[in-house]
Amino acid sequence: MMAKKKTSTKKIQTKPALERFFEDDHHYNLLLNYVSGYDCERYGCDQYCRCGIIDTSSFTMEESHFEHLMKAYWGKESLATQYAIERALNTCLNSIDSWDIQVCEGYYGQEIGKCVIDYSVRRKLEGILEQILKATTDSKKIEICLTAEYGYLLEGVKDAQFEVVSISTKKIVFGQLEYTKKLSKDIIYKYQYYSLPLGIVIPDGEKYRVVDGYHRLSGRIDAGKKKVKVFEALKGSI
Ligand SMILES: [Zn+2]
Repeated sequence: MMAKKKTSTKKIQTKPALERFFEDDHHYNLLLNYVSGYDCERYGCDQYCRCGIIDTSSFTMEESHFEHLMKAYWGKESLATQYAIERALNTCLNSIDSWDIQVCEGYYGQEIGKCVIDYSVRRKLEGILEQILKATTDSKKIEICLTAEYGYLLEGVKDAQFEVVSISTKKIVFGQLEYTKKLSKDIIYKYQYYSLPLGIVIPDGEKYRVVDGYHRLSGRIDAGKKKVKVFEALKGSI
């Protein structure tokens, strides 16, 4: 009998995904805004303008979430892994300064070229992602992404087990009421199609207190949803 050689598929898949992620051009994954300067008279532009010069100091990016980007590279991992990775990408990449944006010459003036992650951001994010991928439990993965985002771990989620549950939005309570009132329509829209568990909650009597996912959860509540999928942090033996 021939024994099939066992290989760790995890190692084969995760390492290249991480490398590919940092080397790939994410131009089409970002919603970039910028302005161009024109001097058509001087350049003699006719029917079509070909003289646009991109003002690199005008770069801004739209509020975006990184679920599609996470899915493209790590979509086959557990829900907790996907959540932790998406949160880490969001923490590190949701700022225009996190990106190294190249400008290139096109037939119709300057265009946006390759967009890669800024080197110092890459080093930080790579460290977080490696930790998440190497962690052996879902709890640890979620702890890593929360620590990366907030700088420390709340007592209520320390050494907790995280279970995916569907709960009624009526039972959700927010610690910071003011925070949820200031939500813009953009943010509500931003999370409309988010398919991962929306956040992390701690059971609090009959209610669930939000630990992570204020925007995502209040966005869904504002959109009139009756039930939401979240991670419930459970302490002690279940
Ligand atoms: Zn022109």
